[in-house]
Amino acid sequence: MNLELSDEQEAVRRLARDFVDREIAPHVIAWDRAEEVDRSIVKKLGEVGFLGLTVDEEYGGSGGDHLAYCLVTEELGRGDSSVRGIVSVSLGLVAKTIAGWGSEEQKRRWLPGLTSGEYVGCFGLTEPGTGSDAGNLTTRAVRDGEDYVVNGTKMFITNGTWADVVLLFARSTDAPGHKGVTAFLVPTDTPGLTRRTVHGKLGLRGQATAELVLEDVRVPASAMLGEEGKGFSVAMSALAKGRMSVAAGCVGIAQAALDAAVRYAGEREQFGTPIAGHQLVQELISDIAVDVDAARLLTWRVADLIDRGQPFAVESSKAKLFASEAAVRAANNALQVFGGYGYIDEYPAGKLLRDARVMTLYEGTSQIQKLLIGRALTGISAF
Ligand code: FAD
Repeated sequence: MNLELSDEQEAVRRLARDFVDREIAPHVIAWDRAEEVDRSIVKKLGEVGFLGLTVDEEYGGSGGDHLAYCLVTEELGRGDSSVRGIVSVSLGLVAKTIAGWGSEEQKRRWLPGLTSGEYVGCFGLTEPGTGSDAGNLTTRAVRDGEDYVVNGTKMFITNGTWADVVLLFARSTDAPGHKGVTAFLVPTDTPGLTRRTVHGKLGLRGQATAELVLEDVRVPASAMLGEEGKGFSVAMSALAKGRMSVAAGCVGIAQAALDAAVRYAGEREQFGTPIAGHQLVQELISDIAVDVDAARLLTWRVADLIDRGQPFAVESSKAKLFASEAAVRAANNALQVFGGYGYIDEYPAGKLLRDARVMTLYEGTSQIQKLLIGRALTGISAF
């Protein structure tokens, strides 16, 4: 792959960097403490085109390739993972999935709003009883004339309280396909759908994470995304690309950890010298730097494979696995460089560590990524 960025890719990276420095960085501590990102950020993300990357201009998208998408995601992750997650879900998991699987009518109904920031999307797969074993979900969609009647509960749904539409996965009653899971696009103002904020998260505190409860929610059959019974394939294809986006966000966290650690180590003096001059501090910094580079290269490779139309799912799992663990290590090493100040939220390392931690859990835990990679290599499913 060509590691040299094109002029367009450099330009989009600069745009994202400026956006983060102007619109996000000044508010990060306040949003984290308040447990709420200012919602006006969604419109702003839409205006600069970040919610429409890789989506055709015909549907309101801003086009671009997956490497450009990674560059923007990385910068947003450097700024605030709570904001990065809004894009990774509303664009990465919802809009891109509608673009890939939707009917012409569904694309025209949802994509212009999602890519402009008028709408927010959320991805409803996880349930209280089924996380890693998502294929065993129990939310039911029972056919009734031209509609389905949906009952069930979805847990930990990113953007959940903000969302206008949920890409919902339910077990439809007479589905012939894989595990009988079917995907639906459900407006969140549909009667019977209620939402509750999940409070007290370790990280991503600014993000609107919700539990969704569906009680006799009536959904027209025309809201089905893809064929009946093919919903698990819809979910897995969304997550394969989504993992690249999580990995890119992790690169951003690790880069932020590196920048902060180098800056602080040059300023802070102990034993009569900047701590950057102590060998063991340099070890912490060089470990972060190697993690940043390795995570970035694995992530860019996934983007390159997608843009060249090659298979990428296993590489995406590898990138997500490595980058998420690397982001945790990098943020933890940065916290060590900051000493006691790293433990205080006026300094960046603590939040980076809290935000990094969930990356090893969602869109498939590290154990699940290892099982996906192991299955691809051995041909044996060990789930
Ligand atoms: P479990 O599946 O119960 O796993 C618990 C432990 O067991 C883990 O260590 C896991 O690795 C391990 N384990 C499970 N099975 C195996 C196995 N076969 N072999 C070895 N180890 C195993 N979900 C959505 O659908 N949409 C979202 O937008 C979304 N956003 C989220 C945001 C946040 C902040 C969080 C915390 C979660 C979010 N999730 C979302 C849910 C997330 O994807 C799940 O939490 C994740 O898939 C793990 O499921 P679980 O929490 O039920 O853990």
